[in-house]
Amino acid sequence: MDNAEEAEVIVIGAGPAGLTAALYLARYRRDVLVLHDGKSRALRIPKTHNAPGFPEGIEGPELIARMTRHAAAFGARIEQAEVNGIERTADAFRLTLADGKSPDSRAVILASGIFLNQVDLPHEIHEQAIGAGVLRYCPVCDGYEHSGARIGVIGCDSDGAAEALFLRQYSDDITLMPLSHPELSAEQAREMAEAGIRVETGALDALEPRDDRMDVRLEGRDALLSYDVVYPALGCRPRAELAAQLGIGLEDEGCVPASAVKDSGVPGFFAAGDVVEGLDQISVAMGHGALAATRAHNWLRDQDHHSFQATD
Ligand SMILES: Cc1cc2nc3c(=O)[nH]c(=O)nc-3n(C[C@H](O)[C@H](O)[C@H](O)COP(=O)(O)OP(=O)(O)OC[C@H]3O[C@@H](n4cnc5c(N)ncnc54)[C@H](O)[C@@H]3O)c2cc1C
Repeated sequence: MDNAEEAEVIVIGAGPAGLTAALYLARYRRDVLVLHDGKSRALRIPKTHNAPGFPEGIEGPELIARMTRHAAAFGARIEQAEVNGIERTADAFRLTLADGKSPDSRAVILASGIFLNQVDLPHEIHEQAIGAGVLRYCPVCDGYEHSGARIGVIGCDSDGAAEALFLRQYSDDITLMPLSHPELSAEQAREMAEAGIRVETGALDALEPRDDRMDVRLEGRDALLSYDVVYPALGCRPRAELAAQLGIGLEDEGCVPASAVKDSGVPGFFAAGDVVEGLDQISVAMGHGALAATRAHNWLRDQDHHSFQATD
């Protein structure tokens, strides 16, 4: 990208949220530039079955390719770049890119997603296990596909307990196991027992993904445990640093507050998708993208003293 290149709106992120925002902005006839570092979580989805409109399911990379084509067809520019910094100048935002460039824009939409806290496996083996369907991170996304399966949940704490209880509606064979040590309260332990969820206490020693199952070794247990699928419930790290740089207060878990889809408190700056507090799903990210784009468009019209606004 040319250093002097500017856009009316820069969207940071080319996942479902950023690409939806770019599509809407392009169709509002805004000059929109999408910058992304190639790390959309959607690119890791082997096949999603809950993206509306795709009854046979769709692979994540195919969804992103279609969304990229769609936004580009209406004029959005989509470029690979890592954004490291952002500041508000008198009448614009100035971004700092890893390659040293510093494009300006009048408005910004942050659609930067999250990083998952993952189990400790070499990258290639980790991704193969996701592809094989024996390692999963999102029960809302694919719990249904594991109906009746032997399911292991890693993380013997509130998050793990909540995930195990959620998955219980799909299977009566659920085991909760700790990453290092169990942290269940007496009440949570009782809840697990009442729901028929087994609780292991030995720390996770090793995960051994196979083509059709995940073998698990726990400390203090001679027997190898086998599950059709394992869900680590280890939380995530929202990619919200750029919002923090603008002084936006983050939620406890590090997410941008949900209100930032429409009003972040920083004029001209909006957020969308997983980076925002809420349900981390494709359909939610798309909805946020549409809302944030419309808010950005209306904000620009206000700045330019135009009366007509899209309603949201
Ligand atoms: C294995 C797996 C399976 C899943 N299955 C489903 C499913 O079946 N159904 C479902 O609804 N959801 C599913 N999800 C979740 C879904 O992928 C996310 O909810 C969705 O991708 C969120 O979209 P987003 O645009 O907010 O973030 P992302 O898609 O993660 O995109 C974030 C974008 O921001 C960019 N970015 C971030 N920071 C910077 C920076 N500093 N500079 C430049 N670019 C940056 C990234 O490169 C990326 O382009 C799954 C996720 C995984 C990992």
